[in-house]
Amino acid sequence: MKKTVRDIDVKGKKVIVRCDFNVPQDKEGNITDDIRITSALPTISYLIEQGAKVILMSHLGRPDGEANMKYTLKPVADRLSELLGKSVLFISAPEVVSEEVSKAAAGLAEGEVMLLENVRFRKEETKNGENFSRELADLAELFVNDAFGTAHRAHSSTAGVADYLPAVSGFLIEKEVKFLGSAVEAPERPFVAIMGGAKVKDKILVIENLLAKVDTLIIGGGMAFTFLKAKGYEIGKSLLDAERIDYATELMKKAEEKGVKILLPIDVVAAKEFSNDVETAEFEADAIPAEWMGLDVGPKSAQLFSEELKNAKTVIWNGPVGAFEMSNFAQGTIAVAKALAETDAVTIIGGGDSAAAVEQFGYADKMTHISTGGGASLEFLEGKELPGIAVLQDK
Ligand code: AMP
Repeated sequence: MKKTVRDIDVKGKKVIVRCDFNVPQDKEGNITDDIRITSALPTISYLIEQGAKVILMSHLGRPDGEANMKYTLKPVADRLSELLGKSVLFISAPEVVSEEVSKAAAGLAEGEVMLLENVRFRKEETKNGENFSRELADLAELFVNDAFGTAHRAHSSTAGVADYLPAVSGFLIEKEVKFLGSAVEAPERPFVAIMGGAKVKDKILVIENLLAKVDTLIIGGGMAFTFLKAKGYEIGKSLLDAERIDYATELMKKAEEKGVKILLPIDVVAAKEFSNDVETAEFEADAIPAEWMGLDVGPKSAQLFSEELKNAKTVIWNGPVGAFEMSNFAQGTIAVAKALAETDAVTIIGGGDSAAAVEQFGYADKMTHISTGGGASLEFLEGKELPGIAVLQDK
């Protein structure tokens, strides 16, 4: 167990907090979704209430080590001021830590908040450069990491700074570790994982880790066709990772040995092109004609998956079971989201596209936990220790 802000005395201390304020913006720079900012509020508000002097930092986009003002955190400072109901000091220093910034940090009063400029304006950030880590650390007396979305990266602001300051987690990281960790380590059974998305390659390590833990593994999305091909089925023009057919065969064999049930699609919704504007047809999963590609699981598969989910007590979902961005191929993913919304199981959504899907289809508030980190939650589910969490003090 890692220490959290609750385990240390922060009153009167300068506390530097790594948040994940990597928000989506429109062309004018307006924030189009502020969930990443609101997710950080519990930690920030707690620190304010406790009388800490709060210094926030984050990255935004990929400025690639240049002070490109397209990626300034100014809009985040403005939104944060609105949400907190108090002014957040923001100095747009191209070098992130400047003399003016250091002075401002040193002069903060208890309960005051400042936000640094985009840490990726500095080349050293993503290289975990010692100098930059030390510059950040010199601003404060304590480090709090609350950026789960970047916890799988060993950067100056996520890990390096902890070389120089006592480091603990914020409430967001605490919550992510609690839900993802307990789901994987001590799940109430039956434990079902649903894996989807385009590529087998991206999910191999997660599947391997989860195979040792789950009772049932449901595989949908583009990646399912490599498994169907491995069973000798005709998959037409569907997505195929030809190099991983043997792997799929092996994995299914391993699952059988372990007594893990694997559910693959039994029917599909297909089209002749990857488009929402063409004719669609349903086929059995073992008989997709040569010129067709499966772009969603069919109604019988949706039924099969939903039945399995009904009996589950813990469910982890990572990756859509169809090309859900196109309405003609969204029904399978909607059915999975609905089944999860209707069970009383612990339901964990592993960030990225499945998180977007439950939001889009209006089931977000029915899930036990929606991870804020796509890549980070995947690595967590792979069983890896995330660098931004590893550096935090143990209880
Ligand atoms: P990933 O980033 O690997 O989780 O993949 C997510 C993407 O997989 C989404 O954009 C879906 O459109 C896509 N996807 C899901 N099912 C299929 C499919 N059957 N064929 C092609 N792409 C798919």
